[in-house]
Amino acid sequence: MPETQAFDAIVIGAGPGGYVCAIRLAQLGFNVAICEKEATLGGTCLNVGCIPSKALLDSSEHFFNAKHHFADHGILVSEPKVDMAAFIGRKTKVVDQVTKGVAFLMKKNKITVVTGTASFKDQSTLEVKAPGGEVTHVLTAPRIVIATGSKVADLPGVVVDADRVITSTEALLLTEVPKTMVVIGGGIIGLELGSVYGRLGTQVTVVEYADRLIPGMDADLGKEMARILKKHLGFEFHFGHAVTSATTTGKGKARKTVVTAKQVASGTEVTFEADYTLLAVGRSAYTAGLNLQAAGLTTDAKGRIDINDHFQTAVPGIYAIGDVVRGAMLAHKASDEGVWLAEHLAGHKPAPIHYHRIPGVVYTWPEVAGVGYTEDELKAAGTPYKAGKYPFKPHGRSVASGDTDGFVKILAHADTDEVLGVHMIGPRIADLIAEAVVALEFRASAEDIATFSHAHPTYAEAVKEAALDATAKRALHL
Ligand code: FAD
Repeated sequence: MPETQAFDAIVIGAGPGGYVCAIRLAQLGFNVAICEKEATLGGTCLNVGCIPSKALLDSSEHFFNAKHHFADHGILVSEPKVDMAAFIGRKTKVVDQVTKGVAFLMKKNKITVVTGTASFKDQSTLEVKAPGGEVTHVLTAPRIVIATGSKVADLPGVVVDADRVITSTEALLLTEVPKTMVVIGGGIIGLELGSVYGRLGTQVTVVEYADRLIPGMDADLGKEMARILKKHLGFEFHFGHAVTSATTTGKGKARKTVVTAKQVASGTEVTFEADYTLLAVGRSAYTAGLNLQAAGLTTDAKGRIDINDHFQTAVPGIYAIGDVVRGAMLAHKASDEGVWLAEHLAGHKPAPIHYHRIPGVVYTWPEVAGVGYTEDELKAAGTPYKAGKYPFKPHGRSVASGDTDGFVKILAHADTDEVLGVHMIGPRIADLIAEAVVALEFRASAEDIATFSHAHPTYAEAVKEAALDATAKRALHL
């Protein structure tokens, strides 16, 4: 048995929750170890999530623009083609660069990186095992942070063979452009990866249980997104359908996937056939291999680790953050929790995390983003509100670039004018949402946003116009 190594704190999992927590702990003077079972650091986000999906979204957008929009700008190129090996190869290089970046940060902050699966021996001791099960390290610390993230959620009847019936992980590695693809789930991951292949020419069919896309976001965004994806990429949508099975049939080049679904309203069974089927119905907390019982820990009905407001589990000295606990499964949420916890452990009094002010973004084109309360939430709570909306269609910057789809919607309190929610779909919205987050955090009024100077010509002016509309229907360019 290896000798026991003692640390001030140990973090399990090197995703954006774990590695950011480890850095902040080290900055605050703790002697920190981080355990990661994969060969590279960065977790789901850097290896098979946020970063590789954005790399493919960027590449596919270049292809789509070269094929469909360059000529509008007077740029004539011969018919563009996709080299899948180079397309996927560039993404692999991006992943390599960013994961090495995390390794550099660990070194810079003198954090001990231990490769292997961490498993509790008792409340303050971990065994770290190699893939064969051999214990390579024994680590002990009075503070252990579980940041083991999530895995793709299963759907009963859907047989993922990782070849034709695939998850987001395999969708980042395809060696051909599918002619047809069924995407099970109209949420963020399904729409982003569906867009990647839709832009390359795949006929994409989305089968969604709810009656709209991106059901967690403001209802207007899902409606507009469906209209745009249909118009630009020829997506087909089947809402109100519960998928009951998905399997691969045939051999060799004749391999096909068959998806069956039941129409929720009528109970009618519908069948879809496609070259590939992407299962994208969400993710679930990952705790396999941790041997939680040895520490006296259990999981809730959804497999998540229960925590209090200070991220402490039922066992003193053991904490949990990120996808493995309640709340939105987002990289920036995991990192915010990691920093908060590190500062709390150092005896600081960090400002509370306002969960309803964490923005959600969909990196399709146009992009979609929202923060704060949706219109449905305000209605359900009986909060008096007013809505201001500004479309990109007449907006000068949008006309110049040709990106005229979408709108900015601002919801403000009817009496106080305080901004309660901002929901947008349009060009470069992923970056524009930062202004809305600041406005919500500082409890700005719609009139505050309307008064601040916004550079001309920028897409950000649409935020100002929507704020003017919310203030007193005073939009200037409508
Ligand atoms: P993870 O990133 O999942 O990291 C957990 C780590 O723990 C993993 O590396 C795992 O190997 C390791 N681990 C698990 N068990 C053990 C063990 N016993 N011992 C040692 N190591 C262990 N979020 C966004 O905010 N923006 C996006 O654009 C976005 N795009 C996404 C696209 C896709 C395709 C996917 C799948 C996800 C995307 N997400 C996005 C979600 C984001 O990736 C997660 O919310 C984020 O990675 C969660 O961070 P985490 O640190 O909690 O867990």
